[in-house]
Amino acid sequence: MNNFKRQSHFFSFDKKPSNNETEAEAKIATKETSAELAPEETSAELAAKETEAKEATILTQADQAQVSNVQALLGNEPARFDKKKIEEGVRLILSGIGEDLDREGLRQTPQRVARAFEEVCDGLDEKVDDLFEVTFDADCHDIVIVKDIPFYSLCEHHLLPFFGTAHIAYIPGLDGRVCGISKLGRVVEAYAHRPQLQERLCNEIATAIERNLNPMGVLVVMEAEHLCMTMRGVKKPGAVTMTSAVRGAFNANPATRAEALSLFYNK
Ligand SMILES: [Zn+2]
Repeated sequence: MNNFKRQSHFFSFDKKPSNNETEAEAKIATKETSAELAPEETSAELAAKETEAKEATILTQADQAQVSNVQALLGNEPARFDKKKIEEGVRLILSGIGEDLDREGLRQTPQRVARAFEEVCDGLDEKVDDLFEVTFDADCHDIVIVKDIPFYSLCEHHLLPFFGTAHIAYIPGLDGRVCGISKLGRVVEAYAHRPQLQERLCNEIATAIERNLNPMGVLVVMEAEHLCMTMRGVKKPGAVTMTSAVRGAFNANPATRAEALSLFYNK
């Protein structure tokens, strides 16, 4: 029966898993038992039923977890984001550096930081492939460039910002189809709005374009200033970190790559 219940919970998301059902079943079972069995057997039976009911409740909780995982996959899950945890963490950091948590300026800081993190990490919820759902038949076989796309990200080693600009070039596939140009900005933002490394960020953007548009080539160049390198550590303000991801025709053909780079940097 539990198997059946598991299945039914799995597929019916609007139905709350059944703590009540389980209790009701346990009660009915107890009633039958009382009528048929001697008192000492009844209490042994009762204990067994209680254990069974407890086990059923545990299974129900497992079901609940499973249901929410499926909901998350289907994209109708309430956020996994836990503001309370962040607020608690911020309180610990503030008291760890010796600050007075009750100081007026800090009183609302944990909540403010939690809201800020919800925003700067919202890329974790973005379904990047969905951004490419609509493409356009442009019969385009030349380089498409969107450059100077501003981005802000968080270095995953220090949780300090790194920010700068991204330049993207791609050559549509044989079908000549293109995506909306604003979608390229959205892809940058989706991958930037999470704890990141600039190297990985660059690669993930190129891979998403490659995977979804099946283009002849993709080139992504990013330049950024990392606060973990300028306000702390080696303290080299103004140092620019550059990364690139070079795929397909841009990799195979130096002239094509040079053309894209000159379009990136010539005003
Ligand atoms: Zn860092």
